[in-house]
Amino acid sequence: MPREPVTAFVALGANLGDAQQAVRGAFHALAQLPQTQLTGQSFLYRTAPHEAQGPDFINAVARIETRLTAPQLLDALQALELQAGRERPYVNAPRTLDLDVLLYGDAHIDSRRLTVPHPRLWERAFVLHPLADVARDRVTAQALAKVHGQVIERLPD
Ligand code: ADP
Ligand code: MG
Repeated sequence: MPREPVTAFVALGANLGDAQQAVRGAFHALAQLPQTQLTGQSFLYRTAPHEAQGPDFINAVARIETRLTAPQLLDALQALELQAGRERPYVNAPRTLDLDVLLYGDAHIDSRRLTVPHPRLWERAFVLHPLADVARDRVTAQALAKVHGQVIERLPD
């Protein structure tokens, strides 16, 4: 019997080349994943790099319904990163595309490859604001208040 689809949230980030185009392209690529439907797209946000180098980041969050397991989803996201030309010369290097699993249903995962919910989710305005766009019920006003000091610009649609 097929698994029930799981609602998952994926963070999209880019800060090299045409970062807006990379993030828009990533939404498109997520919609093409096997056993997966793209059911929500946040606005795009611009932020200065946070514990990272290089040009401003463009960030967004996708909501998907997927029958992929969490490790399968991570595999698929890493394949998309590679397709987008991502290299990892050093930790927090500028990146053409970063795709992280924020939430996978209500699962708590702590494996060598995967920590879900994403450990830094609640510290980052550039994750919480787009997550709130597509998952109003998962982000409280209190959570948004905690990242109030972080400068973030919502791009026009
Ligand atoms: P980061 O996203 O932290 O800037 P990378 O994209 O290079 O850095 O990811 C480093 C490693 O983080 C990946 O190889 C992956 O196995 C691991 N990882 C752990 N939890 C997650 C998650 N929730 N989403 C994506 N990658 C994760
Ligand atoms: Mg990543």
